[in-house]
Amino acid sequence: MAELIDGKAIAAKMREQIAADTQELIAKKVTPGLAVVLVGEDPASRVYVSMKEKACAAAGIYSVEHKLATETSEAELLELIVALNEDEKIDGILVQLPLPDHIDESKVLETISPAKDVDGFHPYNVGRLVTGNPVFQPCTPYGVMKMLEYTGVELKGKEVVVVGRSNIVGKPVALMCLAEHATVTICHSRTADLSQKVASADVVIAAVGRPEMIKGEWIKKGAIVIDVGVNRVGEKKLVGDVDFAGACENAAAITPVPGGVGPMTITMLLYNTLLSAKRRAGMVD
Ligand code: NDP
Repeated sequence: MAELIDGKAIAAKMREQIAADTQELIAKKVTPGLAVVLVGEDPASRVYVSMKEKACAAAGIYSVEHKLATETSEAELLELIVALNEDEKIDGILVQLPLPDHIDESKVLETISPAKDVDGFHPYNVGRLVTGNPVFQPCTPYGVMKMLEYTGVELKGKEVVVVGRSNIVGKPVALMCLAEHATVTICHSRTADLSQKVASADVVIAAVGRPEMIKGEWIKKGAIVIDVGVNRVGEKKLVGDVDFAGACENAAAITPVPGGVGPMTITMLLYNTLLSAKRRAGMVD
């Protein structure tokens, strides 16, 4: 039976350290600050934003929320971002996605100063990740890497198969594994023989968004399985992209859903905000 990789426990440990480092910075008169911008009424986005605010408060990080009406114009939103770029109390700016259709998402993300882009979505930060000199790494894939690190998984020379090639998970996590000297295969909806690709992996990272599509029997004996997927089935149940029960038969270690990658994402947002504040304080490059 596979060992569980407990994202909740790893996240709690990291958040303790983040809170301690935050106090140290505050003693030096630098309070880490995060601005969260929410446009519109999307209920899921509202929940995410309030979770982010609570997590900031628990870590001692100052946070400010800008709730804008759905009909806010693109120009108004860009104006707010420019003001936040110049605000000395703010180390990180997060614009909750998705944005209403009349607003150009890339224009918004490109207006955020790369030095405050704690989500790591600005093309400058994407480029820095590609070239192996990251400034801010996107939160979900970065959380995956921290989980692997805490679990003691050495990636050097390993075969990593990433299923999914989105800009927010699949592609960046593949680049991060490459930077750790893994041999990386990226699979997607047009990949032939997905089961064989998965079967060749020492580490499988699933970011597809399809409930339990990766079958337990595809997993190589002793592999590590990281399931980023969050899929709602029925009224209340959440499942990942991997058939958890089946995969437990073969994997050496696996993340549960919920309680796996999920708690790491907000943790890495706090981590990046703290990192930005440490840069403001001249403590790190
Ligand atoms: P996207 O929908 O942007 O990307 C899904 C990827 O899966 C695409 O690259 C797509 O391929 C690929 N795919 C779809 N169907 C198949 C298939 N049958 N076989 C192989 N590949 C397939 O999703 P995200 O990357 O944004 O999210 C992925 C999952 O992770 C979702 O469940 C999401 O909820 C979850 N998530 C969880 C987070 C967390 O904090 N825990 C944060 C972010 C996401 P193609 O490119 O060819 O279309």
